[in-house]
Amino acid sequence: MIANLLGLPDTPGMMFVVFAVFGMLYFFLIASVAYYVYFYRFRSRFHPDYKLDAKEMKSAIQWAIIGIVGNAALMLPIHMLIAKDYSKMYYDVSEHGWGWLVAQVVVLLLFTETLIYWTHYAFHRVPWLWKHIHERHHKYRVPTPYSALSFNPMDSFLQAVPHHIAAFFFPLHAGVYLASVTFVTLWAVCIHDRVSFVRWPWLNYTDHHTLHHWYSDFNLGQYFTVWDRLMGTYRSPKVDYADVPEGIIYRPRRGYAPVATAPSALTTSPRTPNRSFSG
Ligand SMILES: [Zn+2]
Ligand SMILES: [Zn+2]
Repeated sequence: MIANLLGLPDTPGMMFVVFAVFGMLYFFLIASVAYYVYFYRFRSRFHPDYKLDAKEMKSAIQWAIIGIVGNAALMLPIHMLIAKDYSKMYYDVSEHGWGWLVAQVVVLLLFTETLIYWTHYAFHRVPWLWKHIHERHHKYRVPTPYSALSFNPMDSFLQAVPHHIAAFFFPLHAGVYLASVTFVTLWAVCIHDRVSFVRWPWLNYTDHHTLHHWYSDFNLGQYFTVWDRLMGTYRSPKVDYADVPEGIIYRPRRGYAPVATAPSALTTSPRTPNRSFSG
């Protein structure tokens, strides 16, 4: 399907190449643009205190490559099933009409938001999952665009899989599917660059994810903060957390009583994250 949309044959090898090679080219292009703009060209405006940590950068890039390639391999069976027409993916808008084309975007958002929140919640809640799958991504306590996809491949696979299995639950147009996987990668880079242009509190905007990396247990959603608010894992970046050093998160208001440190929402959380990079 995706390979097919690009005019390439739907063979397992070609699908792997499309998701691994195109995925890497796309990710490193947008991550590099974000890094160049915010951390180099206009660093004095966006991140004046930023200093390149070569060891951390190398690790982030290595794990992004491992994550993307591993994820492409793990997704292969799902893509083969879609290519063999076992899913409800379709290619002609007229098959289900324009109304469903628009409505499925909302359904897809609800579907992925819910599954990704609970997967991420389990990663933080279950010690084995944290240690063996998700901790890698939290090695980067102060994120950069390159750490956006620095995951254990099982982590990137399990957090991305709702997008790929959606077509087995409801009719999904291939163009909507392609747009959703393209957009979620762009979104991942945006929430790791520590620059928020939009601060709508129901949106899981960049400052929310910056807090997620700093405090670990908060703001586990994908695009929205609804599940976090329902489950008590929400922390607003508009509260002046005294524990977060200057320059890591934007502090919009003066006069707030600083919160020394965020109390853990997941009280049985198995660890305290390291403050400095440790590989
Ligand atoms: Zn992250
Ligand atoms: Zn996490």
